[in-house]
Amino acid sequence: MIAVFDGHNDALLRLSKADDPVAIFRDGGAGHLDLPKARAGGMEGGFFALFSPTPDVPLDFTVFDHPPYDVPVPGALPREVASHPIARQIEIAQALEAAGLLAMIRTRGEVGKDTGGALACVLHLEGADCLGPEGEGLETLFDAGLRSLGPVWSRPNAFAHGVPFRTGSDGDTGPGLTQAGRALVRSCRDLGMVVDCSHITMRGFWDIGEEGLPLVATHSNACAISMSARNLTDAQLRAIGESGGMAGLNFGTMFLNPDGRRAAAGALDHAVRHLAHMVETAGEAHVGLGSDFDGAPMPEGLGSAAELQVLVAGMEAAGFGADLIDRICHRNWRDFLARTLPRD
Ligand code: ZN
Repeated sequence: MIAVFDGHNDALLRLSKADDPVAIFRDGGAGHLDLPKARAGGMEGGFFALFSPTPDVPLDFTVFDHPPYDVPVPGALPREVASHPIARQIEIAQALEAAGLLAMIRTRGEVGKDTGGALACVLHLEGADCLGPEGEGLETLFDAGLRSLGPVWSRPNAFAHGVPFRTGSDGDTGPGLTQAGRALVRSCRDLGMVVDCSHITMRGFWDIGEEGLPLVATHSNACAISMSARNLTDAQLRAIGESGGMAGLNFGTMFLNPDGRRAAAGALDHAVRHLAHMVETAGEAHVGLGSDFDGAPMPEGLGSAAELQVLVAGMEAAGFGADLIDRICHRNWRDFLARTLPRD
């Protein structure tokens, strides 16, 4: 079994709706990711997102059944509204750590360390809506273990603009970082945090590169295979490689299928095509996985973390060598974290 370190999941958001999140994560249940499923699929850890949903505007996946589509982005979320779900999800991550089910990675030295069976966790903030306009609250989150931050989700905020879920277009859909966004990105860099470009506009992506950070898209695919505002152009993929960054393959079917459709059948084959293109363009040291477990509809045959080795078999069948499969499945993310996170 090949070990997997994954770039993105929304398990904490799903668990935040449960009565007993620790029991569900420990014993398994519905959903894409829990400890039994991770063990069955060889998953040893990954980035766990903290996310504030827009109240009363649930993302309706049926819209992805009818491409072309252009889902308008919801309005900005007030800081107070954004903060409650984040606090709750941190509480859950801490409870999982106390129960020995998660092990937070806070420093370079903790990357790849024996966790005694717990899933290794890089805590990630998907959209900085809960921070004050001057980045107030960032250090508190850092102290709680936050080591990765995407300035924006597909929704504007004080720091940046997010892309809509749109087919037939790359991520050049709006303005880039605001002045506050540039300051936030520099603060993250100085703290040794990862800055994630998934969901940000193309202009925001280049702005982050200008600030001297490695370009990282934890859960985005290739526009060359599926033209979607959430995916990356070849120029972006090349810049990710040149900056020493990472692109993680998103398993969400609407970002895999060439027509942007949600259909689960056949999406797994497209996943391997995206990986081959991403490796060819960004370079073999700069591509990993970014499943979006518990946040997106999954391909047939890859319905949960328990089936991760099916993707490995797909890579083998497509002629990927053992070293490349190792890199994509875990080594590239680990190497990246070991040169990016704070020193011990
Ligand atoms: Zn996302």
